[in-house]
Amino acid sequence: MKLSRLIIAIDGYSACGKSTTARAVARILGYRYIDTGAMYRAVTLYFLDNHVALTNPKEVARALEQIHITFRVGPGGSSETFLNGLNVEQEIRDMRVAEKVSEVSALKPVRQKLVQQQRRIGKEKGVVMDGRDIGTVVFPEADLKFFMTADITVRAIRRQQELLANEVLADLDTIVRNIRERDLIDTTRAESPLRQAPDAIVLDTTYLTIEEQVDEVVRRAVSLMVKQR
Ligand code: C5P
Repeated sequence: MKLSRLIIAIDGYSACGKSTTARAVARILGYRYIDTGAMYRAVTLYFLDNHVALTNPKEVARALEQIHITFRVGPGGSSETFLNGLNVEQEIRDMRVAEKVSEVSALKPVRQKLVQQQRRIGKEKGVVMDGRDIGTVVFPEADLKFFMTADITVRAIRRQQELLANEVLADLDTIVRNIRERDLIDTTRAESPLRQAPDAIVLDTTYLTIEEQVDEVVRRAVSLMVKQR
């Protein structure tokens, strides 16, 4: 007996625990985890380091040709992001990148390039992908879609703890402002705005622990696999 391999899409607002949940679900199911936010962050890092003018389409197109993003499994078993062969997993989590990433990811050519790569990776199925447009644009045919949300203060505190674990100090006000700003740009941009897919299951994580979030996704995935058997 062979269980079907699913495409699981996890979209939602910034800092709701999408990545943590998606990573754990992928580990439990033996799936690949793709952090699409990390891809947009890596492009942003490249643009910042190379002073790419976002308003100059030629410069943007030229820069995109130079960008090659890959994922490798790190020593602790977690997925790490590589930009042109360099491990940038730590650097892309900086506030410097967080402050620019929504502006960069609103650019059409940036989205076209990354969506193409994401579709290529997901084609093989058995994947958990988290982002903003996975269930709506990248994989509208995903087997399971989740839309995550949570209270803004709870999200900011979680993000602050995550940054602290990476030895990055940031005050709560700055984080709240950044999350609000990213949510606003992400939901109002012309290109693939953050939207809840009509067939997505809403997960409000305000009062949920990580274990509870993970359990919910895994439970639904398993019941779907059993139904499809
Ligand atoms: O998920 P994370 O917070 O790391 O994503 C960083 C930013 O990348 C988001 O605020 C959003 O602007 C952008 N993003 C996107 N589409 C995705 C994933 C992330 O536009 N699929």
